[in-house]
Amino acid sequence: MASFTSGRLHVIGGGLAGSALATLMAEDGIDVTLYDEAEPFESRWTRGMQTAPESHKTAEPEIFHDPDGVVADYFARWPEIPTKLIRPAHCVMGLKRGRRKPAIITLDQGISRALIARRLGFIARAYTAFSLWQNRYASEESRVEGTIASGMLESDEQANVPGTYHRDALAVLAEVLFSMPAHRCSKALLGRVMTPKASKLFSKSHEPVFSAIDPIILNDIALPALRERFITSGGSIKANTKLGDIDSTSDYATDLLFDDDSQIVLKPNDAVVLALHPKPLCDAVPDIGMTPAPAKRQTMAFELKRPFAEPRCLLVSDDIVRAIYCNRRHLQVSLNSGLHIPNDGTIDQFAHRIWQRCVWLCDQYLNLDLQVRSENAEGFDHPNYRFIDAEAPFPELSPGLAALRHRLQPPWKNLFLCGDSFPAEHAPGPAALFTSVKQVRQQLQAFFSN
Ligand SMILES: Cc1cc2nc3c(=O)[nH]c(=O)nc-3n(C[C@H](O)[C@H](O)[C@H](O)COP(=O)(O)OP(=O)(O)OC[C@H]3O[C@@H](n4cnc5c(N)ncnc54)[C@H](O)[C@@H]3O)c2cc1C
Repeated sequence: MASFTSGRLHVIGGGLAGSALATLMAEDGIDVTLYDEAEPFESRWTRGMQTAPESHKTAEPEIFHDPDGVVADYFARWPEIPTKLIRPAHCVMGLKRGRRKPAIITLDQGISRALIARRLGFIARAYTAFSLWQNRYASEESRVEGTIASGMLESDEQANVPGTYHRDALAVLAEVLFSMPAHRCSKALLGRVMTPKASKLFSKSHEPVFSAIDPIILNDIALPALRERFITSGGSIKANTKLGDIDSTSDYATDLLFDDDSQIVLKPNDAVVLALHPKPLCDAVPDIGMTPAPAKRQTMAFELKRPFAEPRCLLVSDDIVRAIYCNRRHLQVSLNSGLHIPNDGTIDQFAHRIWQRCVWLCDQYLNLDLQVRSENAEGFDHPNYRFIDAEAPFPELSPGLAALRHRLQPPWKNLFLCGDSFPAEHAPGPAALFTSVKQVRQQLQAFFSN
C-alpha cells in the first residue's frame, strides 16, 4: 500500500468512475471523501433504466470494445467479484449481402474458438476450423465472390469498398446495444464476419476483443463490493450532497460549494476529482472550458409486427438517424441531436420521414426489409411510433467536443477529471471509463507525492 499522507481527496460523483477511483485511492492510503447528489456506488445504468425504452429495459449485457482488457484488469484483482462479470461477447453488425458486397471485419479469435467448440464431433470441428482458416487466407476478391452470387453487385463506389463502413463502426462499438449468445447465431451469419488468424485461433491464451459486462453482477455484486472495500479502507461517503460551484484562485480550486450551503475549504495539497458526465459537470462548473455533451438521446421506437430473431445494430453518421437498433419487436432509432422534432401537427410527416430513412438504411446495410415487418397504423404509411426521453448510455460527444478532448486541461492544478468522456483515445464506454480511472489514479499519485 502506498503511503500518501499529505492531502485529502474529494471525489465528486459516485457513479462507476468515481466509485472505482475513490476505492483505489482509499486502498492506496489516501483520506478520501466521496460525494454524490444521490447515493454513491450506484450506476447510471441502473438509474437510466427508468428512462430507457421498453425494449431496452432488460438486464442483458451489452457489447463493448476493449482490446486492452482494461475493464477485466480492474476487477481481476478482487476475488469476490465473479469473473463472469466480464464475458466474451459476439458481435454481428451491419452485414451486407444480396446486391452489395459484404463487409469483412476481423473479429476476435474467442468467437472462432467458441464456434468450433460448439460443433459436435471431430469432423465437424475440423471442417469449421478449416473453413475459418480458408476464409482468413483467401484473397479479398475470392472471399467476396464466395459469399455472394456473381453479377449482382451494384456499381455504387461506396458499396464496393469492402468493410469501410464496418471498420468505422468499430470505433464506436462501445455503443453497440445488443448481445447475442453464440448458440443463437446462425453459422452463416457468423461465417460472414469471421476472419481469424490461424496462429491466434490455436493459441492457448487469448483476450476477447469484444466483451460484455453483466449488469446484474455489476449492480448486485461489484458495486456493493466496491462500497465495502471503500469503507473498510477508511473512505467517507457523503450522499445527497450536490456540488453547486467551485471557488478558485487562478491556479488552485480553493472551496467546494454545495447546494445545501455547506462548504469545504481546500488546502493547497488537497485534490478534487470531478467524476461527472459532461452535462452535470458543466452545470456545476461552467468555466471548466468545455461545452456540455447532451445527456439525453432523442429516440423513437417503431412497433413492428414480427420480432427480430437476431438483434442487429447500425451506427450511422447521418443528418437524420444516428443509430438503429433492431431489438425484439421494436425498431429503436436514435436521432441526430441537431434534428428539430416538431411539436405541431406535422409530427406524423416527421415520423414518416424517419421511417423512410430507416427502411432505406436497413435495406442498404442490414439487408432487412422493414416494410414486411411493419403493420402501419390505419391511414398512415409508417407503423405506430413513440418518442422516448431516453438517457444516453454514454456521453453524446459532438465532433467538436470529441476533438476538444485532446486539448482539455482542467483549469486548476488540484483538479482532475474522470469519466468515460475524457480519455481522448477511446470512444465513450466502459473501456474509456476504466482507462480514465487508471490515468487519474496515476496523476493523483504524482500530485500527492509532490
Ligand atoms: C439505459 C442505460 C443502459 C446502459 N447500459 C450499459 C451497458 O450495458 N454496459 C455498460 O458498460 N454501460 C452501460 N451504460 C452506461 C453506464 O451506465 C455508464 O458508462 C456509467 O454509469 C458511467 O459512470 P460515471 O461514473 O462516469 O457517470 P455516472 O454513473 O453518471 O455517475 C456520476 C454521478 O455523479 C452524480 N452527480 C451528478 N451531478 C452531481 C453534482 N453536481 N454533485 C454531486 N454528484 C453529482 C450522479 O448522481 C451520479 O451518481 C448504460 C447507461 C444507461 C443510461
